[in-house]
Amino acid sequence: MSTDLPPLRVAIVGGGPGGLGAAIALSSLPNVSVTLFEQARELREIGAGIRIGLNCWKVLELLGADQDVKGHVKEQVLHRNGLSGELIATRGPPSHIPYKYYPQRVRRTRLQFALLSKVPKGIIQLRKRLVSIENLDQGVRLRFEDGTETTADLVVGGDGIRSVIREQTFPGHTIQFTGTTIWRVLIPQSSIAHIPEIPQPTTWWYGRSGHVYLSPVDYPSETSPEERMFEISVRNVIDPATETGKRFSWGIPVTNERVESFFQDYDPRIRETLASVPDGHWKEFSAFAGPRLKTLIAWDKVVLIGDASHPLSGAFGSGAAFALEDGWILARALEHTRSARKPLSEALKIFDEIRSPYYLRMYEYLDEQKRIVEETHAGRTFEERLQMKVDAFVGEDKLAWIYENDIEEVWKAYLRRENEGEVVSRL
Ligand SMILES: Cc1cc2nc3c(=O)[nH]c(=O)nc-3n(C[C@H](O)[C@H](O)[C@H](O)COP(=O)(O)OP(=O)(O)OC[C@H]3O[C@@H](n4cnc5c(N)ncnc54)[C@H](O)[C@@H]3O)c2cc1C
Repeated sequence: MSTDLPPLRVAIVGGGPGGLGAAIALSSLPNVSVTLFEQARELREIGAGIRIGLNCWKVLELLGADQDVKGHVKEQVLHRNGLSGELIATRGPPSHIPYKYYPQRVRRTRLQFALLSKVPKGIIQLRKRLVSIENLDQGVRLRFEDGTETTADLVVGGDGIRSVIREQTFPGHTIQFTGTTIWRVLIPQSSIAHIPEIPQPTTWWYGRSGHVYLSPVDYPSETSPEERMFEISVRNVIDPATETGKRFSWGIPVTNERVESFFQDYDPRIRETLASVPDGHWKEFSAFAGPRLKTLIAWDKVVLIGDASHPLSGAFGSGAAFALEDGWILARALEHTRSARKPLSEALKIFDEIRSPYYLRMYEYLDEQKRIVEETHAGRTFEERLQMKVDAFVGEDKLAWIYENDIEEVWKAYLRRENEGEVVSRL
């Protein structure tokens, strides 16, 4: 590609998976200068474990960050009645998935370090909490809480579910507490090793209004038994209308008593597992969600990626992959339009054409699932509802368009459509 392209100043806001992935992908483009602004004092992850599936492996490969991400390979996942302990189903990945793309449960810090190691040095500015953006004739002005400001030609909003950039570009859009509260912790695997059925493999224990998810998070051959950690992620769902207290979305410390109070009717092995968490280690996450945005771009120079772009509250357990895919597609769209000397707005339109319908499909799927549950679960016993839920859950092949999404193929398909004239030609 020619290097006499006009310079482009990109400001990425947010240092989560979306912001870091976008920083890697955009920094490799000629004459594009990238600065990433993150509000935190240091980049640290607090969410315990994370699922990395085929869609995420594919984009990590493209970013060159897959090698350093390693965790527990989920060759088998068990589904149990959390109250009686009865085993309901045992599942593994679909047989056509190559072993290297098997889902893994990894420490979130592993993913973050792997991404950080690929971000060019010196482009991240910490303690930069964005408070507002302003649409200028040329570019966008960004103002930070510390009183400083900067301007950029393109602003990438990777500032998460409570995005300031979304708030400023789509003022009528709001998010709300969904009723789901999640508590997460990593504890040494050795501390629960004595509890029957608990240490291995990844297991879901379902209750009446929530579940307990247990999984190792380390790759055995690189972590000694004493150092191996174990994830406990539990959730409880209430009617959000009954909730009057103030809710925070991310990582608030809570007492063991509060967490355990929601799981009193669970199998004794689960209660013993929860009781083995040291005091002060649990973190609480309240799930927030909001309606779909009709477009992910604004002002011809602002683009939303990751959780900022689709406030779905982790509904598919694949939000990190979505965020990384967004950043990679944005880089391809920019590369494509810049090489043809087209304006920035054209790149953003391509991004929107590819990613908006994808998120629309997710929203439609969730609406459909909600309708099915309302229609089929009424009048059923807990055991019957659980069986239906597990049957639906393990039918992940229906969601291959998410879990097996290959973002490079998505881009190639876009180029083919453009060549065949199906896309309104811009080039
Ligand atoms: C409990 C829980 C479990 C999950 N489990 C999984 C899972 O297993 N697999 C999976 O793929 N996904 C999972 N997710 C979803 C996943 O964590 C998110 O989808 C993913 O982190 C989104 O990345 P992001 O970069 O868009 O946003 P975030 O990770 O939220 O990052 C946003 C960043 O922006 C910064 N920021 C925010 N506001 C400002 C501001 N005003 N100025 C400057 N910086 C700002 C924040 O400090 C943060 O660093 C889970 C989410 C939750 C809550």
